[in-house]
This record gives sequence, C-alpha cells and structure tokens, in this order.
Amino acid sequence: MSAATPTAALPEHVLVLDEVTKCHPGGVTALDRVSLRVDAGELLAIVGPSGSGKSTLLHIMGTLDRPTTGSVRVGGHDVRTLGDRQLSALRARSLGFVFQHFHLSDGLDALENVATGLLYAGVPRRKRRPLAQEALDRVGLAHRHAHLPQQLSGGERQRVAIARALANRPALVLADEPTGALDAANGKAVLDLLVELNAQGTTIAVITHDRDIAARLPRRVELRDGRITDDVCEVSAV
Ligand code: ADP
Ligand code: MG
Repeated sequence: MSAATPTAALPEHVLVLDEVTKCHPGGVTALDRVSLRVDAGELLAIVGPSGSGKSTLLHIMGTLDRPTTGSVRVGGHDVRTLGDRQLSALRARSLGFVFQHFHLSDGLDALENVATGLLYAGVPRRKRRPLAQEALDRVGLAHRHAHLPQQLSGGERQRVAIARALANRPALVLADEPTGALDAANGKAVLDLLVELNAQGTTIAVITHDRDIAARLPRRVELRDGRITDDVCEVSAV
C-alpha cells in the first residue's frame, strides 16, 4: 500500500477525455476525436466560434451527456462504467457548474440558493448553511446572503451562482459563457473573481466564444468544427 506522500506532487488529472466523438441525431458530428486533459489547479479557456462544439464539449466534460465513442474519466472514474445514479453522485461531488444565465431559483435568497446546491451533493442539512455562507464570503457577498435574486445585480447573481458551484469544493468548475449576460464592468469583475479563485486553488474551465476573455487565461484550447486545433499554455506557474 502506498501512503500519500506530500512531496510526490504529481499533478492530479481531474478530467481526461480520450478520442471523444459526439454525433448528434441528424448526423451532425459535433465533436470529432477530442482528447483533453485537465490537471488540478489549472485555469483554462475553451474557445471557439458559434457551432464549433463548445456546448457539446461542456456537456460531456460535465457528464451531463455521454460520448458516442471515446472515453471520459472524472477524478479517475471511467464514466462508461457508471450508471446514471452513480454518475449523478460523481457529478454532484466533483463538478460545479456556472451558466450564462445564472439559473438561480427566484423564490430562494442567496444563501438558500447556494445551500440547495449542497443538498444535491448529499451534504447533511446542518452543514449546508455554514458551507453556503463560507462560499458567499469567498465571492465577496457575505452582506447579501438574505437577498433574493431579483434584489441583486446581474454581476451579483453570477457571483451567487459561482458560490453555489464552489460550495462543495468540487475538483473542477465548468463555466459556460459566464460573462455572456453581463455588461463589460460586471463581466470583468466576474472574470477577476474566477482568476482569484483559481489562485486560491480552484480548477476552472471557462467555455467562451470571446477571445478577449480567453486571452486573460493561462491556457487556451481552441475548438473549430468539433476538433481541437490548438492548445496553448502561457505559463508553467501551476
Ligand atoms: P457551440 O456551443 O460552440 O455553439 P454546439 O456544441 O452547440 O456548439 O454545437 C455544435 C454542432 O452540433 C452544431 O452544428 C450544432 O448545430 C450541433 N448540435 C448541437 N446540439 C445538437 C442537438 N441536440 N441535436 C442536433 N445537433 C446538435
Ligand atoms: Mg454553445
């Protein structure tokens, strides 16, 4: 048996896609033999024009959809070997999602919106509120926890959604056009927050069509017509 040694810090592969192809009904090949590895601590952009396969890739990385061929491993688990319930459990435990349009529940305040996410991750009731509070603190919204979504600005709503994605300390956060519904100033603030959270250790993949956003991130994976055409790492600071 090998005990974990603090010195042998081989990068942990959070997510590995191997030769993933996805054919949609109607014969569209949205992803064509995509191989991609995400290591713990990374902050990457997956960038490409409309129709290049970004959403399809996000769904497959997030285990919301299964590939037609090829393999997906999340935290060492081969998705093919898991049934739907096991997959939901893995997703709730390991992955956090941020969407363009926030997807908050109107009738719940910020704290409840974040805490509800923890319910699905199987976190016991008594732990949910403190964890939710901590996550709201991390995104700078400690003073807004009793506000309903409609009492918050767009930028604040997206920060609540980010807190919800973070609350269970997932291995990987997937953000799909996270600034797409925000004005320039709020979009920049949300991107700054993602960069800061990454600096604190959160692994984040940002899916975007916006080259200016991608340019701010240390790794850029270019998608075109369902294929990875480039994968550039700027720094080896991780
Ligand atoms: P992007 O997010 O980069 O705009 P998508 O992943 O949404 O790209 O789409 C990639 C390709 O797959 C497009 O040609 C799109 O029309 C097609 N597609 C996406 N989802 C479906 C679906 N559910 N059924 C059929 N075709 C789809
Ligand atoms: Mg899309």
